[in-house]
Amino acid sequence: MKETYDCVVIGAGPAGCTSAALIAEAGYSTLLVEREKVPRFHVGESLMPETYWVFQRLGVLEQMKSSDFVKKRSVQFVSHSGKESAPFFFDKHDPRECSQTWQVERGRFDKMLFDNANRLGADTYDETRVMDVHFDGDRATGVTVRRDGETRQIAARTVIDATGLQAFIPNRLGLIVDNPDLQKIAIWSYYRDATRDEGKNLGATIILHTDAKESWFWFIPLADGITSIGVVGDRDYMLKGRGKPPQVFADELMKCPAMQRRLASATQSEDFHVAKEFSYSTTRRSGEGWVLVGDAYGFIDPIYSTGVFFALRTGELAADAIVEGFQKNDLSASQLGCWTKDFDEGVKWIRKLVGAYYTNEFSFGRFLKTNMQHVGNLTDLLIGRIFYDGAGDIFDDMDQAIEQSIRDRVSGRDM
Ligand SMILES: Cc1cc2nc3c(=O)[nH]c(=O)nc-3n(C[C@H](O)[C@H](O)[C@H](O)COP(=O)(O)OP(=O)(O)OC[C@H]3O[C@@H](n4cnc5c(N)ncnc54)[C@H](O)[C@@H]3O)c2cc1C
Repeated sequence: MKETYDCVVIGAGPAGCTSAALIAEAGYSTLLVEREKVPRFHVGESLMPETYWVFQRLGVLEQMKSSDFVKKRSVQFVSHSGKESAPFFFDKHDPRECSQTWQVERGRFDKMLFDNANRLGADTYDETRVMDVHFDGDRATGVTVRRDGETRQIAARTVIDATGLQAFIPNRLGLIVDNPDLQKIAIWSYYRDATRDEGKNLGATIILHTDAKESWFWFIPLADGITSIGVVGDRDYMLKGRGKPPQVFADELMKCPAMQRRLASATQSEDFHVAKEFSYSTTRRSGEGWVLVGDAYGFIDPIYSTGVFFALRTGELAADAIVEGFQKNDLSASQLGCWTKDFDEGVKWIRKLVGAYYTNEFSFGRFLKTNMQHVGNLTDLLIGRIFYDGAGDIFDDMDQAIEQSIRDRVSGRDM
């Protein structure tokens, strides 16, 4: 480890590994540090097809194609009454290679990205924790790291915060704004031999509502016959007076016959995990010499499996802004954050889609029955194709349908 770098990247999830790889590839000295031993366990296994372009740019597309990660070609929804939607097949809307993606074990996937950053020239260290980020006024000037019981000071022209939900710099500078409506808890585990669909829908992510829409399950098929199964609900609903997580999971499963059927001949292969999923945003994304990427930038409810794609994409955009900043000798907040406005414009559509799912009065199935013209637009959103004019056209009609369904409930009319 050197004493000075052009860029220090904190955290080796998909966001940090992407930034480090691209900055090192551009010829700038780059340090990537991860506090845990790589590979490390992480939730977030279902990818979006738009990850394809970042994989291509990073040079890992062939590794993804030849891996044993399960191929994901669709997303499917099961309503609170047990009605199964037709799968949203990505290639039906857009028949290209990039319309297929993967369900990944994050330990292996993130290690592939970590090794790739090293291959492209970054100094990569696991079991190395950033204890402090140094500031001179608003300007980030380096970090203090701890490795093997030893503390070192590293100077840096730029610092990327890719610490995930730890959100090191946002917490330090008080930049976090919680979304009080989306304070959720997830309880999940892994099952052997859960019943999967046949054929093209075999690798689908399936999202299943429980009977009173108080929670929802994910079904994510992984390699070696293992399936990731989790349940998500409001923090208070999931925790208050409900007993331990395995009991809450079992109770919610009783309210979801479509998931019970899929688990009828399955065996649980590890203990339950629990995570807080507190959606939040940040009031600033960059400062002089520093920028946020991935979950440190903001956390969006995982219902549509957007997190890893956003981590890869923000990692890429921040890397490009930094490389351009080095070339122009401009490491200002506006240069390092020059991509954030356009990024937020696209992400806005996903936030609206999350809001629609959690509007209990609203039914996607009923909406699409009378608005078939929007199936393509909705599939685009599920693919992650949100950064183009017209990406949010569906909301012209969907917003009205949501308002109408709420009015119907208030006036006591059937929903
Ligand atoms: C319950 C749940 C389900 C989810 N499901 C999905 C899904 O199906 N699909 C999807 O795309 N996304 C999903 N997500 C979101 C996804 O997990 C994240 O969006 C994604 O991992 C973000 O990547 P990242 O690189 O920003 O952060 P992370 O992957 O969290 O990586 C951050 C890294 O920084 C390290 N770090 C932290 N602090 C320090 C420090 N001080 N020094 C050194 N290293 C440090 C951490 O150890 C960690 O390895 C889910 C999230 C939750 C909570």
